[in-house]
Amino acid sequence: MSERTLVLIKPDGVRRGLIGDVISRIERKGLKIVAMDLRTLDAETAKAHYAEHAEKPFFGELVEFITSGPLVAMVVEGPRAIQAFRALAGATDPVKAAPGTIRGDHALEIGENVVHGSDSPESAAREIKIFFPDRF
Ligand code: GDP
Ligand code: MG
Repeated sequence: MSERTLVLIKPDGVRRGLIGDVISRIERKGLKIVAMDLRTLDAETAKAHYAEHAEKPFFGELVEFITSGPLVAMVVEGPRAIQAFRALAGATDPVKAAPGTIRGDHALEIGENVVHGSDSPESAAREIKIFFPDRF
């Protein structure tokens, strides 16, 4: 019944000192962190992670931002972990994200919305393989 999702605390979240807040929300919810790493992405890894957005007008900006400093990559596990973390994160546009969610509480700009969470089991498997190739 348990599933895994890839969570990123993006460079804006790390710069702003939100690592503890995000981890605390994950743990309070009852989800389990089963892998974690602080690293700065190279452009190649960033493009692979966001491949579905390659044709979007904001792709260049997205890659630039996600490689702009260290991020925290985590594998998070639990029942319906994918949906559970997306609910904690809130809507992509942080102005539309409900107060009480990570994005709703901490962000204003769609390009700097603190966290990433996989959106489906297929995405989770693909993304976990990019960030933790030998672990799962
Ligand atoms: P998510 O799954 O909620 O993270 O959203 P998406 O998969 O649709 O987009 C990936 C990330 O691209 C989002 O988290 C945003 O940070 C960024 N993004 C999405 N739309 C825009 C946009 O219109 N402009 C910019 N600059 N970034 C965007
Ligand atoms: Mg997405």
